Amino acid sequence: MLAFYRRLYPFKSIFSWLNHEHTPTKLFTHREFAFTLPGDVYLRYNSFNTADELKKQVCNLNPTRFEIGPVYSARPKDKKTVRPAAFSPRLRELVFDIDMTDYDSVRTCCSEADICKRCWAFIAAAVHVLDEGIRDQYGYKHLLWVYSGRRGIHLWISDQEAMELTDEQRKALVGWMTVIQGGKEMHKKVNGPIDAALEDIVLQYTYPRLDAEVSKHRNHLLKAPFCVHPKTGRVCVPVDPATVDRFDPERVPTVAQLLKELDQTSIPAGEPAENEERHSDWENTSLKPYVEMLDKHALTIMNEVRRTKRGASDLSW
Ligand SMILES: [Zn+2]
Repeated sequence: MLAFYRRLYPFKSIFSWLNHEHTPTKLFTHREFAFTLPGDVYLRYNSFNTADELKKQVCNLNPTRFEIGPVYSARPKDKKTVRPAAFSPRLRELVFDIDMTDYDSVRTCCSEADICKRCWAFIAAAVHVLDEGIRDQYGYKHLLWVYSGRRGIHLWISDQEAMELTDEQRKALVGWMTVIQGGKEMHKKVNGPIDAALEDIVLQYTYPRLDAEVSKHRNHLLKAPFCVHPKTGRVCVPVDPATVDRFDPERVPTVAQLLKELDQTSIPAGEPAENEERHSDWENTSLKPYVEMLDKHALTIMNEVRRTKRGASDLSW
């Protein structure tokens, strides 16, 4: 894992995506990071000034994974020294979690943690419905889908309006999106003879089954993109909703595979020289298209923030 963090993990891309600008803002400096260490040790309320600081700490701790939380009114690392009233979550991406186990009542090929190409079709259908529904109904544009590394997918929405939603508003929004309660059997009464039944079946199979609790609270922590799933060794890579039907979870690169790819390139595999940190060794591995996807996404957000800021300063003149 240490070699993965040191040479492959795209800290700069994660920074740009979370921070919305080149120079660090509160969106990054007041952001909570939580680390899970071997033996289920859980370290909350960490925060960092820069991508390099985050990288340094990750390489120090070598966590099995880390999670991203909200932007607080003060720096999370100062939580113990500020008045409790001065420490509250302010901003947070709107997040959704779709998990395959919630489809166990309708899938027949696999169960529990197992997943194959056939049952991925349920996730793909849910991604289409949610992606299009959210863009249409709420006008949000900055949606990032991330494979969870095993049997699910996460959605992170970075639009300013979405970041500012209160817990109450999040609850209302999720209530509106949750038609099917995952794991529960069909409970809608079938009134009409065929049309209604067909409609029920379509809805039952294609509508997203959300883990609603994840979306309702700003201070819910969610695994960072590009972390590694401890059971499968697969990297949590971004997924393009346009091609989600063709996405094959079993072809997502594993850490072992990526490190092997690094060894096969001309770059020496040894320790980097003192003070020499590499940031883009991923370019020489099959992680490349996924990091580029995140970079492209972050750039779209940054461009919009720049335009909005320029517009605001024009107005002030
Ligand atoms: Zn299956």
